[in-house]
Amino acid sequence: MTTAAIISGTALAATVRDALARRVEQIGFRPGLAVVLVGDDPASAVYVRNKDRAAQGAGIAVATHRLPASTSQSELLSLVDQLNRDPDVDGILVQFPLPAQIAPRAIIEAIDPAKDVDGFHPLNVGRLQDGASTLAPCTPRAVMKLLDKAGTRLRGARAIVLGRSSIVGRPVATLLLNADATVTIAHSRTADLCERCREADILIAAVGRPELVRGGWIKPGATVVDVGINRRADGKLVGDVAYEEALPIAGAITPVPGGVGPMTIACLLENTIDAAVVRRA
Ligand code: NDP
Repeated sequence: MTTAAIISGTALAATVRDALARRVEQIGFRPGLAVVLVGDDPASAVYVRNKDRAAQGAGIAVATHRLPASTSQSELLSLVDQLNRDPDVDGILVQFPLPAQIAPRAIIEAIDPAKDVDGFHPLNVGRLQDGASTLAPCTPRAVMKLLDKAGTRLRGARAIVLGRSSIVGRPVATLLLNADATVTIAHSRTADLCERCREADILIAAVGRPELVRGGWIKPGATVVDVGINRRADGKLVGDVAYEEALPIAGAITPVPGGVGPMTIACLLENTIDAAVVRRA
């Protein structure tokens, strides 16, 4: 019985981080990343710590701004304004979710698009839609790098993206379309989801439903990228794809954990360096 090639995000992220550290040496200055954490969401604190550590390793100067959960929208906006004007800051990342009194859209739209390393600002979203060079969101960028690592042919391939969120599903679909794949975007109202999946040479799962995609949904030989991170009732961390069922059917697959997650952080570092190089040119 053949089994799928495992696309290791952990290994690829280490290679990418090394290449980025060399790039930082060559450009001759340390790009600056400002990370803003509002409140004390424990998962956010872990993400911020991981980003901080990875950025330091790549030679990026990180300043983490920790604000209390009671921070008002205008207080956060004034910090964003200060960071927008700081010449040493090349990238601004505001960690989501934000406390209820702050509208995420107001913050996203206040960040200077040239420093928007999350790629969420409407200007960058629009540029991506237009197929122009821009700061693309980190997780979608990670998905594309993992597909590339697996040697997946994109041009003319049938791809399905499960999930239509602004941060993952939609931009992943746009990047695939920009790479000449024929893309279906599926969501919670999609009819015959299993059949639509079975037609796809490339399946990207970003729904946040543990092991929704069963082995029988996967076209034999397809490349599967599992973005989902879900905690099962028994405490185990699983993706949106039933991994063990998929292994004998898929051609290549990303594991969870150790797939998209580490590559997302590597892409944040890459966006920061890209933003620095463009802004300081
Ligand atoms: P959202 O909750 O914003 O979006 C989920 C999407 O999945 C929606 O479009 C929803 O459809 C769709 N969906 C939900 N249930 C089903 C179903 N049964 N069948 C088909 N589609 C369904 O999630 P995100 O996009 O933010 O994240 C998705 C997953 O990716 C999560 O597990 C998250 O933890 C993970 N993630 C991982 C990252 C990483 O670095 N590895 C980074 C970001 C996210 P509808 O629009 O109709 O409601």
